[in-house]
Amino acid sequence: MPQNMLHARAHARTSAAALEGNLRALSRRAGVPLLLPVKANAYGHGMDIVTRIAARHPDVWGLAVATPQEAGQLAALNPGKPIVLLTPPRPAEIPVLADLGVRLPVASLAEAEALPPHARAHLKVDTGMNRLGARPEDAVAIGQRLHERGLLEGIYTHFATSDELDLSFAHEQFERFQGVLAQLPPVLAHASNGGGILSLGALPGMRLARPGLASYGFAPPHLGGVLPLVPVMTLEAEITHLHTARAGESVSYGGLWHAPRDTLLATVGFGYADGYPRNATGQAQVMVGGERRPVVGRICMDQCLVDVTGLDVKVDDVVRFWGPDDLTVSEVAAWSDTIEYEVLTGLGSRVERLAGA
Ligand SMILES: *Cc1c(COP(=O)(O)O)cnc(C)c1O
Repeated sequence: MPQNMLHARAHARTSAAALEGNLRALSRRAGVPLLLPVKANAYGHGMDIVTRIAARHPDVWGLAVATPQEAGQLAALNPGKPIVLLTPPRPAEIPVLADLGVRLPVASLAEAEALPPHARAHLKVDTGMNRLGARPEDAVAIGQRLHERGLLEGIYTHFATSDELDLSFAHEQFERFQGVLAQLPPVLAHASNGGGILSLGALPGMRLARPGLASYGFAPPHLGGVLPLVPVMTLEAEITHLHTARAGESVSYGGLWHAPRDTLLATVGFGYADGYPRNATGQAQVMVGGERRPVVGRICMDQCLVDVTGLDVKVDDVVRFWGPDDLTVSEVAAWSDTIEYEVLTGLGSRVERLAGA
């Protein structure tokens, strides 16, 4: 039997049309092309699949990653567009990354001096996130040095609160950023993440924007009406077994749930090792046979159980855990007391990533 007959139980399918539409809408609202974050396996969707779509999208200037390792993986996919690394590499990694054409974050004079002459730098300014970057009062000298060396391609900062109701701190951050920009030659300035694009719109002087989660179809609840974003991923898994639990019997680990009546149960190949949050137990629901049905008993490592009583389902039919409309990742995140980012990026390696229309 060929190895590819041994297929995955769970699939995450990326809709090219949904992603393309989101990118278009976000770029229009920001008024600039996008530097699309494809870190964390493109927010769980599959870096290769998302990169293929982004590579041909007219509103995508380049692709952003979090780690040097991701930069190497992305470079190997030959996206044909600039790759920007967002966190500091180790000194030994710098020449390797520069050779690959990866744009490097710079936050000190020492780093500016150490770059090889063929490197391209994006100066990182810490305007209030307090995570990475040069303080505004130090950034100008670093930018000037990079400019003298002919290495300064971009300058950027990151908002800490752009997805919140109160935008006063985001405005403060942007003012600090503009103070730095005013003292440097014009380069590719970027600040907004998805929250920033949705809440602040087009920002003066910006040349790029970096929407992550919004590109994949999600807005904070209070900004849900700003753009018609469409969730990009559909997560489905196969029914591997069907059986009836008798009235009163307990189901799954800990015997948390008891069948209130004779209950047809579908065992489905998607569990917490695949990224289905275990603490959604008790609240989780799925779409199956055109209906919304409860996940019953504890969510297990490799599988979960769904009450499919009365439905005409068979082994190998698929159950939908989330998708663009009827049941979204936002609901799953709420059941498990987390955010869409964590559910999407927590998808495991057993989940097969598929390209869809
Ligand atoms: C992850 C990241 C983004 C994207 O953030 P979203 O909230 O997903 O839009 C943008 N910029 C930086 C520096 C990041 O690390």
